[in-house]
Amino acid sequence: SAKASGSNQWAFFKQQMTERAAVRLRTEASLHDALKNEEFVLHFQPKFDLNTGKVIGCEALIRWQKEGRLISPMSFIPVAEETGIIIPIGRWVIEESCKVIRHWQKKYQYAIPIAVNVASQQFADASLVPDIKQLALRYQIPPELLEIEITETSLINDIELAINKLQQLKSAGFGIAVDDFGTGYSSLSYLRHLPITTMKIDRGFVSDLPGDSAIAATILMLGQQLNLNIVAEGIENEQQLDWLKAHNCAIGQGFYFSQPLPLSEFESRYIQAHDTKVSLL
Ligand code: C2E
Ligand code: MG
Ligand code: MG
Ligand code: MG
Repeated sequence: SAKASGSNQWAFFKQQMTERAAVRLRTEASLHDALKNEEFVLHFQPKFDLNTGKVIGCEALIRWQKEGRLISPMSFIPVAEETGIIIPIGRWVIEESCKVIRHWQKKYQYAIPIAVNVASQQFADASLVPDIKQLALRYQIPPELLEIEITETSLINDIELAINKLQQLKSAGFGIAVDDFGTGYSSLSYLRHLPITTMKIDRGFVSDLPGDSAIAATILMLGQQLNLNIVAEGIENEQQLDWLKAHNCAIGQGFYFSQPLPLSEFESRYIQAHDTKVSLL
């Protein structure tokens, strides 16, 4: 009967929910262990000045080294966000990035900004802003060398939460980038009031280039009008690069230049060849 099948469906649904909750709990526990056992690692993807070809910054991207495999953030960051464990993981990312900035300064006299991704849950944490300030002090890092990336979607969804903290961070000198720009439907009227320094054009619009360029062109114009730095994400070929250069996009990131790299590879490829090192000898 309909009633019986309805109650079967309910039982099935309940069982599914219980399984999902169990998977989440298990994953949360193993993320906890991963943090404790230092299984997370940052890779660094360089950002280039498209006119000079020089590396002018990089983005720190987390990976999980689990039983000899490297796990993509796409498969654990969403669970980390759902369960709240993104807060200590995110703090680890920020501290680790501060250590790297310090290390590059001391070892190579090399200073480029590192951008870290910060999830909206971290903005709900009262200690985010004081933590960032304290870490910058502890590692003696000029704030402009640390850039906070927040996706447009989470910025828009939690605008009340984020805006005040972003204002504090921006006033303290940290860079603020809106990540995946163009996917979050921000309204133009308040975009200009947001405390941001950089807009990152979502890679989806870069991959449409050069054929389908209306959105990328509009974002570039908008960013230029608002006097923001603009970074094109996900540049994969020369045609995309040529279009971006022709439209005065100053900064780019993507597999065409480099994948995200382990620290030692980033250093040997981009820092040891750097001329400030030569001038130190
Ligand atoms: P995102 O912040 O937008 O980072 C850019 C992603 O695009 C990275 O993927 C990068 O490897 C990839 N990418 C860069 N250039 C290209 C390209 O030319 N083609 C293609 N197809 N992809 C490119 P990844 O490292 O897998 O990270 C995925 C997302 O995971 C990030 O997107 C970010 O939202 C999140 N994520 C990564 N690390 C962290 C973290 O430490 N904290 C938080 N909250 N999220 C993170
Ligand atoms: Mg990012
Ligand atoms: Mg992005
Ligand atoms: Mg993204």
